[in-house]
Amino acid sequence: MPETARTAASFAVIDPATGEPFAEAPDRRPEELDAVVDRAHRAWTGWRADPAARTTALYAAADAVEAAGDRLAPLLTREQGKPLAESYAEVARTAARLRYFAELAPRTRRISDGRPVRGEVRWRPLGPVAAIVPWNFPLQLAAAKFAPALAAGNTVVLKPSPYTPLATRLLGSVLAAVLPEDVLTVVTGREPLGARLVSHPGIRHVTFTGSVPTGRAVAAAAAGSLARVTLELGGNDAAVLLDDVAVEAVADRLFWAAFRNCGQVCMAVKRVYVPARLHSEVVEALAQRATSVVVGPGLDPDTRLGPVNNAPQLARVEQLTRRALADGARTAAGGHRIDGPGHFFAPTILTGVPPDSPVVTGEQFGPVLPVLPYRTLDEAVDAANGTGFGLGGSVWGTDLDRAEAVADRLECGTAWINHHAELSLAQPFAGIKDSGVGVAGGPWGFYGNLRPFVVHRPEET
Ligand code: NAD
Repeated sequence: MPETARTAASFAVIDPATGEPFAEAPDRRPEELDAVVDRAHRAWTGWRADPAARTTALYAAADAVEAAGDRLAPLLTREQGKPLAESYAEVARTAARLRYFAELAPRTRRISDGRPVRGEVRWRPLGPVAAIVPWNFPLQLAAAKFAPALAAGNTVVLKPSPYTPLATRLLGSVLAAVLPEDVLTVVTGREPLGARLVSHPGIRHVTFTGSVPTGRAVAAAAAGSLARVTLELGGNDAAVLLDDVAVEAVADRLFWAAFRNCGQVCMAVKRVYVPARLHSEVVEALAQRATSVVVGPGLDPDTRLGPVNNAPQLARVEQLTRRALADGARTAAGGHRIDGPGHFFAPTILTGVPPDSPVVTGEQFGPVLPVLPYRTLDEAVDAANGTGFGLGGSVWGTDLDRAEAVADRLECGTAWINHHAELSLAQPFAGIKDSGVGVAGGPWGFYGNLRPFVVHRPEET
């Protein structure tokens, strides 16, 4: 929750670059959701009926998002903290998602099993969808939910994080100008607004992105209405460097795979496993980048790394770092908050971290990276697979076939070779273990918003 007092109908939004409130957002009460979901139901009737009109509307929505880039991107930076160029990139990805899903249509399939019956599988939308997103990529994660849901013929009630409600609200009003009324509704507010939304009896699909503990609560809450649940949860991705890796050639990519968006990426590299003989070379390469990268307010054009988004997350990052240091770790770079206003934490490279320290076993979700030496590849793969998470992972080396064979042993949803966290709109996105339930992305994510409907009729004779 934002750390200011609650007022009757709005709450303050903090600029993480200053630590000060700079705007307010409506604090919708849970009881208001009955009317919102009811309107989403009514809007569904028209929206589901005309796929061609949907395609046209979603293309118009993509154009409208792009046209609003100069309003959306600075606001996103202001409330989220990321460098302005990254906010523009997020706006572009939001529009790209709308266009990608506007193209998709479900395929009707004939079933033939030798009987004189013609079976046909058609696809139908589910109804109003509740979409709940976190604060790290408010716009593009929202679009990852509402674009396939709308394309499939559902209506959507979207709740952003209370840390980043503003750009999403603006997005909602930009899209309201091109979509039919109540097809997409943005509701902002503090808990228990989200809890009420995911347990609302009128919601037919709950699609949630956030932390593992909240994901568990969401799944339990949605069980009451037996709504479909899609959960995209936390990650603790490992990067495994092989003994033939060209350290200097990959160091930039590896650094940014861990530190982009200030490490607040579900599939950031959160642990690096390095052959013991390369350990100091890798640590030095990463530490050099960590100490020289420009950290500052996202609106400053020189900034490459912004602040941590919110005070509790900053405290968590600091606490995990302190605990690692108390466990015997050393800092090769950073290790502390940056003095002055705002939620800034110095980019941190940790060495000598015990494998059971929480910064290795848990998700730091911030600008802190442990680098761990290994002796045998089996040991590295076991360690990479040895947490409760299973979102992504990567293997880095010169012999690509060998790297791919190692990648094949990673227990996760997506594995990369010599890079990390680059996703195609056309791919399925699914974490295993605690990292998620269900599939988002690509045609799989589209079908995740549909249900099969089967019609049997006798064959004509
Ligand atoms: P969070 O779980 O605290 O909050 C996520 C959203 O859920 C917010 O909108 C929040 O207001 C809402 N919420 C809180 N309590 C709720 C409840 N009881 N019922 C319904 N909604 C509720 O997560 P966060 O701190 O905002 O985001 C960081 C987490 O998100 C990290 O763990 C990160 O890995 C994860 N994440 C995952 C992905 C992915 O695709 N797998 C992507 C981005 C972030």
